[in-house]
Amino acid sequence: MGTIDADFAGETVVVTGGSSGIGRAVATGFGDAGATVINADVRAEPKDPDVDAPTHEAIEERGGTAAFVETDVSEPTEIASVIEAAREFGGVDVMVNNAGIHRDLAFLEVAPEDFDAVHGVNLRGTFFGTQLAARDMIERGVEGAIVNTSSTTAERAEPNHSHYAATKGGVQMLTRSAALELDRHGIRVNAVAPGPIATEIREGWSAEASEIGASDGLPSRAGTPADLRDAYLFLASEGADYVTGETVWVDGGASL
Ligand code: NAD
Repeated sequence: MGTIDADFAGETVVVTGGSSGIGRAVATGFGDAGATVINADVRAEPKDPDVDAPTHEAIEERGGTAAFVETDVSEPTEIASVIEAAREFGGVDVMVNNAGIHRDLAFLEVAPEDFDAVHGVNLRGTFFGTQLAARDMIERGVEGAIVNTSSTTAERAEPNHSHYAATKGGVQMLTRSAALELDRHGIRVNAVAPGPIATEIREGWSAEASEIGASDGLPSRAGTPADLRDAYLFLASEGADYVTGETVWVDGGASL
């Protein structure tokens, strides 16, 4: 359970990459807060080793309403389909563009295929997820909220992250640019920048992340997906009505 006091009853929230990790925690958080949740992911099965029920089933088991729509966010027509599917539930009120992939590669080793795959999901997926959700909100006269998943690597270079970091830097400026243009439609666009979070974004990363904190410095531990949930709920809530184009850093101080 999250701790933020936000009520999303009657609202429909689309979360991309909601089957696993951060997206799963965010999707179940919105479900607990009363929203109808649509998980748009390439796979229904969670990658996390400690859970087995697909996110929509887990939300329903907790008394919520949820659906899964198989979606590859790197293909805008598939994003359009999930936004269309959301209309069956009243239409998207909150769009969380969270799906992301990472390939651990030295700068000198990144091949065009790696670059395209990572940009396709992380930046193209977030760009068109923001644009298509906003178009749908405007068409329906809804003043909705969009929350994108960035990363501390958007502003801080790390070895083996060049192509990934470039996508997240793009997500930062996309968030600000879209916020600027969508403000007159009453649509807010913000981002959450996680630090190192123990997920299976690449195989073995959650075990590697558990080593964080062994030496002095910040963060003193790896984050968990649950550490991120309330930031997304806040940015999507009425309480954040005067917040747009902003990035909330949830990184245990990593960016300090
Ligand atoms: P994860 O792998 O646990 O979850 C990502 C989800 O996205 C998976 O369910 C996966 O199936 C889905 N996905 C992958 N490609 C997709 C596609 N083409 N279309 C739709 N869904 C797709 O990873 P995570 O750590 O929870 O990552 C979530 C977001 O957080 C990503 O944007 C990632 O870049 C970001 N992030 C993660 C960390 C970290 O340390 N884990 C740090 C900073 C930012």
